[in-house]
Amino acid sequence: MSLSPRQIAVQALSEKRPALREDAIPPERLTSLYGRNVFGEEAQRKRLPRPVYDALRSTIETGAELQPDIADAVANAMKDWAVERGATHFTHWFQPMTGLTAEKHDSFLHFTSDGKPVEEFSGKELIKGEPDASSFPSGGMRATFEARGYTAWDPTSPAFLRETRSGCTLTIPTAFCSWTGEPLDKKTPLLRSIDALSTQAIRLLRLLGEEQPARVFSTVGVEQEYFLVDRRFYHLRPDLLACGRTLFGARPFKGQELEDHYFGAIGGRVLAFMMDLESDLWKLGIPIKTRHNEVAPHQFEVAPIFEQGNVATDHNMLVMELMQSVAARHGFACLLHEKPFAGVNGSGKHNNWSMSDDLGNNLLDPGHTPHDNLKFMVFLTAVIRAVDVYQDLLRASVATAGNDHRLGANEAPPAILSIYLGSELEGVVRSLVDGKAPQTRSGEKIRLGVNSLPPLPRDSTDRNRTSPFAFTGNKFEFRAVGSGQSVAMPNVILNTIVADSIDHVATAIERAGGKGDRREAVEKVVRELLTRHERILFSGDGYTAEWTAEAERRGLRNFKDTPAALAAFTTAENVQLFERFGIFTPRESIARATVRAQQYVHTVNVEALATKSLAATSILPAAVAHQERLARSIQAVAAVSPKIDTRPQVETLERVSQAINALQRAIERLGEAHHAVETGEGSPEEQCARMRDQVVPAMAAVRSQADLLETQVDDDLWPLPKYRELLFLS
Ligand code: ADP
Ligand code: MG
Repeated sequence: MSLSPRQIAVQALSEKRPALREDAIPPERLTSLYGRNVFGEEAQRKRLPRPVYDALRSTIETGAELQPDIADAVANAMKDWAVERGATHFTHWFQPMTGLTAEKHDSFLHFTSDGKPVEEFSGKELIKGEPDASSFPSGGMRATFEARGYTAWDPTSPAFLRETRSGCTLTIPTAFCSWTGEPLDKKTPLLRSIDALSTQAIRLLRLLGEEQPARVFSTVGVEQEYFLVDRRFYHLRPDLLACGRTLFGARPFKGQELEDHYFGAIGGRVLAFMMDLESDLWKLGIPIKTRHNEVAPHQFEVAPIFEQGNVATDHNMLVMELMQSVAARHGFACLLHEKPFAGVNGSGKHNNWSMSDDLGNNLLDPGHTPHDNLKFMVFLTAVIRAVDVYQDLLRASVATAGNDHRLGANEAPPAILSIYLGSELEGVVRSLVDGKAPQTRSGEKIRLGVNSLPPLPRDSTDRNRTSPFAFTGNKFEFRAVGSGQSVAMPNVILNTIVADSIDHVATAIERAGGKGDRREAVEKVVRELLTRHERILFSGDGYTAEWTAEAERRGLRNFKDTPAALAAFTTAENVQLFERFGIFTPRESIARATVRAQQYVHTVNVEALATKSLAATSILPAAVAHQERLARSIQAVAAVSPKIDTRPQVETLERVSQAINALQRAIERLGEAHHAVETGEGSPEEQCARMRDQVVPAMAAVRSQADLLETQVDDDLWPLPKYRELLFLS
């Protein structure tokens, strides 16, 4: 009997040896690899004349405008640096609203007047690019006759070299706007939100008597989860190829119930992949720190040390990109989807977030002195208010078709936003609210800014993994972010809503008056705000039905899916918020919501087509072949002897036939539902809701019949690699 493609893939795997990094032995020291391919501060200092270097650093650090002659000098040095390392091209690298990155390459090729080729790169080319914008989503903002767009250099995120075996490209992080200046990307609003946060935070620091800091940054560290599957299996799964997740697959005999994967020993082939990935990322100056096995089989996590928010966001895009290309080199496919497999944990991203001043002080560090405690409590209060007032926006920032499979599914945080502070800190907040000031160790009542808070353990042991937004010692961890999404939007929202809250706090303190010592005013404002927003604090188990009911009693919002959540981008208050802080104009807010709705519709659309096609052309034929085989064998047995009882086989045949009929009907219903939605009229938002209400359930019905058949059809006839192969073989 000839082997099926599935069986061949299994066989090939058993002969495979772990990929060794023979070319890199002995490996280079981490510190000599680190940052090698980045035109960062060190390369700038070495290669730029002092005045040029100083001008560039001041642009990076304070946002000062860069003069054209300085830009020419920087471009020239950058080009020399890149060309010496083998670069032939440069590209403006940007992040359109697709959620991916985009780039268009140009070579450094120019000719002298006598026709000799030379490498050149001007300040103008560094600062501005002009890609055609017409094929990127704009949410209806840009008419095709005005399709021009431009990219603008972001000097705060360093340029880097992308190396391949065949050549090298100088890659310049840029923002992407329409010709009329409306942002068509994720970086522009992110930079604007960081500015808004800085302005408000500096204002509040001044009120607290701090004159030194000149700027405040968001700091971000992104823990990234992912799955690896063998590439041979991946290519036999058209659903993984087209949708990034399996649309079919019965439960394997063994899933994650033995809990034997988390933090387990990392297998040889996977470890080789991780090491390769890390050296590539280190070369790009991405401070990768941690690697480990995650909860589900063949699920892993990689995490860097935190950086300035804008750089961390760019770096996470690069991490995701390199994970995929390095995986391919190692014969793996890296799955970044939020829910690649039903029945085992999905993947998320923990967006660790805080604020730091330009002297390196973390504004969410409780500190040891009364002044630091006071500052900490004020900024903490601002975050608590922000999350409570703008629950809807935070929820919307993580709303995607993929994340809908995960949020609230008892493996990831619920769709309801709440804050976990840890018992000590929550105790401090509650006693401030109750008017019973927290006590020092000697039993005196604490007055904020006068004495010190009881020491808060940095790493509370009762870390609550079920909370969507947890305080972990000196930063917040936003855990509802999807593994495959850019962290730009979640951070735009965080920065903006916290800027709004700091503004609110600062205004209240100013109104309370009192020149010089404002401690009393500050304490009063803190107490009032904590009282008003205390309802957002929750330390219990977020996965339980009791919490859902309790949250409803507290008046917290519960947007169960993307179509419901997206409305937050266009409510009057939120549109005003974005406008007030210069993040989006009202038109831009509406455009963002439209793009998100369209993305949901496209995603579900592709999934519906793939479900229908795979079920009809791959699964159904296998089931029918099995049906025929059963029928033939019943006949053959009866032919040998009519005395043999064939009723059990006949019953099996009937069961299979029923499942086949049910699958056929489910496919037809999916076809009808999909056709109705696809040809229906309506806004993207209405289409979005119809996809959820009609197509998603019809897809689920097809899947459940197909998965049932997977447990009935002879193994050798089943065309798609099974979960036990995808999840356990490498
Ligand atoms: P875990 O949450 O898995 O226990 P850690 O708490 O050590 O891991 O850190 C998780 C991430 O949080 C890391 O990327 C780390 O650099 C980042 N992080 C630590 N401090 C801050 C901060 N002040 N701002 C933003 N991110 C931070
Ligand atoms: Mg964490």
